[in-house]
Amino acid sequence: MNKKEQRVNQFQKYVEAFRCPLCKNTMAIVGQQSLVCSKNHTFDFSKNGYVNLLSNGSNSHYNKTLFESRHQIISDSQLYQPLHDILAKIIRENMNSSIHQYLVLDAGCGEGSHLLKIMEKQVFIGVGLDISKEGIQMAAKRYRHPLWIVGDLANLPIEDSKFHTILNVLSPSNYKEFKRILFPGGLLIKVVPRSNYLRELRELLFERTEKERYKNDATVTLFAKHFQLLDIQRLSYTTKLTAYEMRNLIQMTPLAWSAKESRINTFLNQESTEITIDFDILIGKN
Ligand SMILES: [Zn+2]
Repeated sequence: MNKKEQRVNQFQKYVEAFRCPLCKNTMAIVGQQSLVCSKNHTFDFSKNGYVNLLSNGSNSHYNKTLFESRHQIISDSQLYQPLHDILAKIIRENMNSSIHQYLVLDAGCGEGSHLLKIMEKQVFIGVGLDISKEGIQMAAKRYRHPLWIVGDLANLPIEDSKFHTILNVLSPSNYKEFKRILFPGGLLIKVVPRSNYLRELRELLFERTEKERYKNDATVTLFAKHFQLLDIQRLSYTTKLTAYEMRNLIQMTPLAWSAKESRINTFLNQESTEITIDFDILIGKN
């Protein structure tokens, strides 16, 4: 069985969780190669077995180099490991063991590395969704297990009340859609940066701390408007990066897009550096 056939078979088990992004009708797998809705809108599986469920073309800022760097820093360095541990733990603690197929959506999964790392620590049915075709392509090519979908947060190709948990890691939200696809009582876990996130990098690139930019008050208020805020867990630590890891960090972060070349080089010319991770993890109940 090739990769595409395996993926199509996996999709078959959960096909009732998805819906057509154009007419919102249910879909079925036809001919082992397409998702087709009752009005005949057709979405083909790619060679690697992901499916593009965008109602119109994607217009993503992110490219392959960025996703490759993001993959390397998330998968091969220890930078985000404590984050993966805590997210797996939160899912585990809230999981109802009587539910046979516990569905978790990573909304805005990029090239999928965070989701994969979390799934190594906790078993559930993972679905990664991102608007970037490049990101999903890379995820489907690299990783065997989760289901990968190109899709729009504002028009999720998912039926009502189908998911038990949504992960939303350093990525935009659409609370109305999140509420719609979660079971009553389902969980939203949102990771947002705090003021010291990547502080050393920002100080070097911009010669000042941009604390204002990372104020979370408005985010928390908006979150609590839509979800019952159960808890906010703060995760803060400092870790050492090698020169290779620093290069990947620079390539994956939008911070560097607006920085001067000379400052980027100053950062990269260090042999190693300390880097601070500083997050709030918002946990909400539907
Ligand atoms: Zn349709």
